[in-house]
Amino acid sequence: MTDRCVFCDIVAGTFGTTFLYEDEDVVAFADLHAVAPTHVLVVPREHFPDLPAASGSSGAIELLGKLLNVAAKVGEPSIEDGGYRVVINSGPQAGQTVFHLHLHVMAGRHFAWPPG
Ligand code: AMP
Ligand code: ZN
Repeated sequence: MTDRCVFCDIVAGTFGTTFLYEDEDVVAFADLHAVAPTHVLVVPREHFPDLPAASGSSGAIELLGKLLNVAAKVGEPSIEDGGYRVVINSGPQAGQTVFHLHLHVMAGRHFAWPPG
């Protein structure tokens, strides 16, 4: 992918963002506008605009599995506090605002269902 975006810059270290988790494929960092006491974004280093784009890529099964596994690692400390929610907004109607695939891991409060 040749597209770049703010998350590509974060992944590249442009803003000196603290990574709560990082490996060769995935990083995790705090959401700038947290909507819960814990709100972490799990982001692939490679730029995919959304879930369908990533899903159609070669290596999709491995990458998507890894993203979910990292989300589980990020959420692990919150299990004893009652759990956590993992969200992917894919497309504008779903509320996606940054078009670089990411998972939200949120915890530390009650989350209603269904979401708004
Ligand atoms: P979404 O609406 O699902 O695309 O989520 C995008 C998320 O990225 C929002 O929760 C924003 O608060 C967050 N966000 C946008 N810019 C930044 C940034 N520079 N650093 C960290 N989080 C960001
Ligand atoms: Zn990007």
